[in-house]
Amino acid sequence: MATLSNVKRIVVKVGTSTLTYDTGKTNIRRMHKLVSVLSDIVNSGIEVALVTSGAIGVGVGRLGLKERPEDTPGRQAAATVGQCELMFMYDKLFGEYGHTVGQLLITKSDVENDERRENLINAFQKLFEYGAVPIVNENDSVAVDEIVYGDNDSLSAIVAKLISADALIILTDIDGLYDANPNEDENAKLIPVVKEINDDLFEIAGGHGSRFSTGGMVTKLHAAQIATASGIDTIVMNGSAPEDIYKALDGKQIGTFFIGKKD
Ligand code: GLU
Repeated sequence: MATLSNVKRIVVKVGTSTLTYDTGKTNIRRMHKLVSVLSDIVNSGIEVALVTSGAIGVGVGRLGLKERPEDTPGRQAAATVGQCELMFMYDKLFGEYGHTVGQLLITKSDVENDERRENLINAFQKLFEYGAVPIVNENDSVAVDEIVYGDNDSLSAIVAKLISADALIILTDIDGLYDANPNEDENAKLIPVVKEINDDLFEIAGGHGSRFSTGGMVTKLHAAQIATASGIDTIVMNGSAPEDIYKALDGKQIGTFFIGKKD
């Protein structure tokens, strides 16, 4: 059974559904647990970068809006508010465990431009050297396309590549990738290990992706495709019990494990 072993640097991605209640307010208990687990993992000597969504969702809650704005400027404005609250929470919670966080807001163009990509990599590298925890989100107030497609899963894979992480752990609101829709088919089984991400898998994920999680399983498969192609093992697992990340790092089978291509 393929599992993680001997990882030194990981990227953990957490989505809005894990971080917030249906009210749009932050799920403080969940955030607290996640941060305590990640702090402990950093204490054990593993470098952790956190890719977090939730800026728009939290901003909607903070502004007291009844629902997510339908227009792009509305979502952009909500993101600017929510990003502050998110970072305030992370700064406070990581601080309780003696850790310092740094915020990186990234757009696609930052990664595609050679000079800016290099600057980004240097910033990550320095943060790790300083022992700080990089916290990443897309720069939603300027990255309009991102807001329309809303895909921090791919961003997390790109970050994992940028910083040559050993593993990418995507936390979501379901236990992993199933061979059918578990909400409709009681015989649906979790797929524990994926060696090859092919069209059949996309078909399985695409047919009912949006019911699986907020971002959908398709974007998680895309992320796993990007990361595994660079040799980075990827796990998609349930974010409701952040302690399960320990199990993954201890080499236990959890969620769906996508084997990074080693050559
Ligand atoms: N960047 C967006 C946010 O923080 C979310 C993107 C996503 O959910 O994938 O609200």
